[in-house]
Amino acid sequence: MEHTTRLMFLGTAAADFSPRLSTDCKDRFDKDARRASCLLIGKRCMVDCGPHALDSLRIAGADASEISDIFLTHLHSDHFNPENIAALAEGKRRALRLWVRRDAQLPPIANTELMRMPLQTVVRVSEDMTVEAVDANHDQQAFPQHFIFTLCGKQLLYALDGAWFLNASYRYLRNRNLDMAVLDATCGDYTGDYRAGEHNSIPMLRLLLPSLRTWGAINDRTRIYLSHMAPRLHLPHEETDALVSKDGMRAAYDGLELEL
Ligand SMILES: [Zn+2]
Ligand SMILES: [Zn+2]
Repeated sequence: MEHTTRLMFLGTAAADFSPRLSTDCKDRFDKDARRASCLLIGKRCMVDCGPHALDSLRIAGADASEISDIFLTHLHSDHFNPENIAALAEGKRRALRLWVRRDAQLPPIANTELMRMPLQTVVRVSEDMTVEAVDANHDQQAFPQHFIFTLCGKQLLYALDGAWFLNASYRYLRNRNLDMAVLDATCGDYTGDYRAGEHNSIPMLRLLLPSLRTWGAINDRTRIYLSHMAPRLHLPHEETDALVSKDGMRAAYDGLELEL
């Protein structure tokens, strides 16, 4: 019996993309030319499907025809690209399932089935996978939500885009002892950015993590990965990773594979 799930970051950027994505990085991942945030869970599930999702799947050598479920964190264009979703849905025998916030309004996409997420409720996805949604502190017009995936008994929080946690969501995380958390780190290691009401910075994360530990949401074994990093607000990847490692975090990068 399989006790681990393979994860791969297909993109780790906020919405400022490198021009190198259309030149020397067209056919490969590069730690300093990040694509739009996206995660592949196992072979069948993706979190978000933005403008680069098809390229990322191709570069990763993943079989796009196997994708059965896409979990949408929200409808901003760096996370939600209807054309790419339509391309993935085309020709599937069973409609591609799109998991969205309960009140989300989105254009109809052929051969997809909308799965509206109830709040703070365990929903079964497959035999060895469940998902829970909590509200996110982000642009409400984009219907944001964070996800807690439970895969073979291990828990993964995927919390981007959003700043801090809303009160009810924070309470819901109490004593969860997450195995892994992927957190928004749009802004780098400086204070004063105007986005503090919708995205995290590294100083905000330094304050947040000890509180999450006190709260039991995470513990000393929880693996913390930062994603949705805006390249122009951060140092190069290796420097960022060395910097955040001092506080028990790692900077994710495109193509990073992990076992959960
Ligand atoms: Zn975004
Ligand atoms: Zn957003």
